[in-house]
Amino acid sequence: MGPCTSAPAIDDLVRARVPLGTFELTVCTDGTYLLDGGAMFGVVPKTMWQKRSPADEQNRILLGLNTAVVRTGTHTVVIETGIGNKQNEKMREIHRNKELLPRSLAAAGVNPDEVDIVINSHLHFDHCGWNTTLHPDGTVTPTFPKARYFAHRGEVEHGHRQLDRDRVSYLSPNYDPLIESGQMTLLTNEGIRKDSQIVPGISVELFPGHTRQLMAVHIESEGQHACYISDLIPTSAHLDPTWVMGYDLDPLEAIEQKKRFYKRAIPENWLVLFTHDHHTPMARIELNDKGKPMVKALR
Ligand SMILES: [Zn+2]
Repeated sequence: MGPCTSAPAIDDLVRARVPLGTFELTVCTDGTYLLDGGAMFGVVPKTMWQKRSPADEQNRILLGLNTAVVRTGTHTVVIETGIGNKQNEKMREIHRNKELLPRSLAAAGVNPDEVDIVINSHLHFDHCGWNTTLHPDGTVTPTFPKARYFAHRGEVEHGHRQLDRDRVSYLSPNYDPLIESGQMTLLTNEGIRKDSQIVPGISVELFPGHTRQLMAVHIESEGQHACYISDLIPTSAHLDPTWVMGYDLDPLEAIEQKKRFYKRAIPENWLVLFTHDHHTPMARIELNDKGKPMVKALR
């Protein structure tokens, strides 16, 4: 398959599937959820963002929870695991999340037992929820029993600090049991600098701003390059470098990191995966006549 732009959604459960070199790249979903539109667009005026993301009567916008599954031929790699099933009733009522990832993986023909690598770009609740599964008896077990999980040590430390600003975003049952059992490898900046590869064709790179240790995941095969950029560019409505989220811990840094990302992603024609875009899970990017990044049109 030649360069494609936004891949067509296959159905509600499997959002996209494309070959990438010799790899197969599938976008599964934990379903949609709702977040405050103002928080998602920071200082951008509502009159501008609502044209791209219409808000409901409570000012909430519809977002996706995209999990990328990469079959390299040797490994089955899962990137991000959605919100999961550990939200209490109040949080489920707020977010209206769907807990679909197990069904989505099944629809895509991905058996949790075949997954050998899970990567979390960061440890916010909506990125690592199905790392573990909550059972009716209250126990929590790894959703991917045979996988080695990877996350950044700084994210775990930040989550454990339970700061006023963002403690609601960090739910330790999503990672502590995996750390305690030795199933999760904690990456460090120094370690990533020395060797960013997780398995051949899959590597991580720091893009701080949303959190201090946000990691993008590069997927590369036979000259084709896809990148799961996570919450640096959460949806295709966030392509403008200045359209950063109110959630970002360091918006100035996020703006600089987006510019740094585009310096490679645009000329090298990367397939960019959007973590929270339900309708455009992936796209290639180009600059419009005003020099602003936009989704590349099919031609
Ligand atoms: Zn997120």
